[in-house]
Amino acid sequence: MENALTGQIAIVTGASSGIGAGVAKALAAAGATVVVNHPVPATRDAAESVLAEIRSAGGSGTTCLCDVSKEPEVQKMFADVIAQYGTVDILINNAGLQRDAPFQDMTLEQWNYVLGVNLTGQFLCAREAIREFLRRGVVPSRSKAAGKIICMSSVHEVIPWAGHANYAASKGGIMLMMKSIAQEFAPKKIRINSIAPGAIKTPINHSAWDTPAAEAKLLELIPYGRVGVVEDIGKAAVWLASDDSDYVVGTTLFVDGGMTLYPGFSTNG
Ligand code: NAP
Repeated sequence: MENALTGQIAIVTGASSGIGAGVAKALAAAGATVVVNHPVPATRDAAESVLAEIRSAGGSGTTCLCDVSKEPEVQKMFADVIAQYGTVDILINNAGLQRDAPFQDMTLEQWNYVLGVNLTGQFLCAREAIREFLRRGVVPSRSKAAGKIICMSSVHEVIPWAGHANYAASKGGIMLMMKSIAQEFAPKKIRINSIAPGAIKTPINHSAWDTPAAEAKLLELIPYGRVGVVEDIGKAAVWLASDDSDYVVGTTLFVDGGMTLYPGFSTNG
């Protein structure tokens, strides 16, 4: 997949950490110029260090401060990127977080915060990307598609998750937002898909794998017998963003080591 994305501009939201950072590096290694988004000034250094790694590997890009849940900031991020690079080819709608609570104790603030970043943030970024893709249309020297959007969903778009109702609702919402806009814009040659990671080692789920006992318990949910790493998601994102997946439209690619195969039933239920 080397050079699969040469000459294309990619925005990766929430790229100062975890999966977003891994995807940003993978896209850059495939030739894309990558915008490393981070939400607050406090994570500028983290975003700059992702960009430094990209540059030291021969890639290119920039960092961009933007809270994806805030409409004016999202509009400014896209305007700035288009002013700097001329257009946007790829959006990785990755930014996401958890604020967990038993449902009876969940505050409206916890509910709104998770939905605001995970779902509304993806809506706001996808809308700006689609506006730009519609304006530019297909340029065959860039890609067969007018643009590509990859929504970072989760196995929890299909697996219910007690104690995480806000997070699971946000991911279920992403699933049907993604399919609805994929249907709406496929005739315009805009390809929209999701990646649903299983358990990937990042700060978001540190406590689930940071001790041998925790990791052993987590592995009971993963038939393939290992916890995922960000490179697993980076490779999937490069493929979904490239013309190699040109006929893949409106689907969720589960990258989960089999977590969605109901492993509890492997011994006859
Ligand atoms: P992470 O390491 O915590 O990274 C999340 C990123 O999102 C950080 O860069 C964070 O920035 C950023 N972010 C948070 N709020 C934002 C906002 N309002 N605007 C822009 N960026 C914001 O977590 P991760 O595991 O890489 O998660 C990335 C995505 O993968 C999420 O959508 C998550 O739901 C999904 N996912 C992860 C797993 C997993 O096992 N790790 C599994 C399934 C799905 P700060 O660091 O500054 O807060």
